Amino acid sequence: MPQAPSIDWDAITDEATRLLSDFIRIDTSNPPGREKAACDWLEGLFRAEGIDDITFYDASDDREFGAERMNMTATMNGDGTKAPLILLNHTDVVPVERQYWDFEPFSGAVVDGVIYGRGALDMKSMNIMELIAMFIIKRLGIPHTRDIVYMALADEEAGGEWGIEWMAKHAPETLDAEYVINEGGWGQAEIFGTRRPAFNCSISEKGPLWLKLIAEGRPGHGSVPHPDNALDRLVRALHKIQVWNRPVTVVPELHEYFDRLWRAQILNDEPSQEAMEKMAKENLLAKAILTNTISATTIHAGIKHNVIPAIAEATIDCRLLPGKDPDEFTQQIRDVIDDAKVRVEPVFVSSTPSSPINTELFGIIEDVVRDSVEEALVLPSVSAGFTDSRIFRQHGITSYGFIPYLLEQKDSMTVHGHNERISVDNLRLGCQVLFETVRRLCS
Ligand SMILES: [Zn+2]
Repeated sequence: MPQAPSIDWDAITDEATRLLSDFIRIDTSNPPGREKAACDWLEGLFRAEGIDDITFYDASDDREFGAERMNMTATMNGDGTKAPLILLNHTDVVPVERQYWDFEPFSGAVVDGVIYGRGALDMKSMNIMELIAMFIIKRLGIPHTRDIVYMALADEEAGGEWGIEWMAKHAPETLDAEYVINEGGWGQAEIFGTRRPAFNCSISEKGPLWLKLIAEGRPGHGSVPHPDNALDRLVRALHKIQVWNRPVTVVPELHEYFDRLWRAQILNDEPSQEAMEKMAKENLLAKAILTNTISATTIHAGIKHNVIPAIAEATIDCRLLPGKDPDEFTQQIRDVIDDAKVRVEPVFVSSTPSSPINTELFGIIEDVVRDSVEEALVLPSVSAGFTDSRIFRQHGITSYGFIPYLLEQKDSMTVHGHNERISVDNLRLGCQVLFETVRRLCS
């Protein structure tokens, strides 16, 4: 493999910082999204570098939140001896509660070496790292075997109807690749209480199962309680779900994750069932990847203070471990509720197979991380949230969640929260690791 070229990383970091600030200033809060503005901006940047193989995929229609929804790809053709690599991202961001921010969330303010703004972590910084990786390869004329495809998708934050789902339906040929690098895993400066850099590389993710509970009963006057109150029924059902104890399960996808943590002496105990149960009790994130979880998210009932409602509805957000059958889980919930007058209906369900770790890309990620950050671990992980990778994995394409920055816990908490931010140092590290990963994979 050719030697790594010498690169002026100070200049690249300045450029990436400026680009991220500019990108944050394009408000792509979803809803409504309006990702077209982001695609127009990206197109200008690519063309300025002489990367002209750009295709827009217009998912707009005239429905609410369906306007100006745009997806795009920018491709640098390789010599064709290896199959394409897709650098995947989404251009939309979640909305903000402006009153809680110390900075205008769409200003891209850079203060004391930190870039603030919605999307700074999720995931406009990664978009920029991917962009920079391609720019360096283009500028230095680095020959590459694979097509390198930058794919910017809409609507990830609302489930992907106008983004990945739309592309899979209307432009399935764009999903053709050997590898995808996407969000879904990032590095942590501290892991399970130990200061040790650990880069998560997500190989799978939990499957969303969004359910609606509908309780029906008999209306009546609030002054005369009766046992067929729909809201009482719903509260009982939710309570049963709350106290339902689900087993701690280490899915096969996570064996290596916990083994590596144990071998690195981050975990004191061998990852036995007992140790995992203890861990799930003490750590919410561990519990999320070790159990099928349920969050109650909305509830609606009633029309007046003194009227017993005839109907009451709630939504619950279940996240299933890889391999868990959603129909079976839904039936388990019905059994737990054990009330014929509470219906359980699916609203959104998705699942994904896992990507293997015995691949060329995984090996390269391990090498590059080892060469870049002293003592760093690479952990094949399962992400608690779901991403656009699920569709690629369903098509048999290896897709990793690998955003190579190294976050402190307090910073990672700002994803979807207030004062979302990334340090300039992290942006630099991400640009370096991602570029080198892409270079080695495509040489
Ligand atoms: Zn995201």
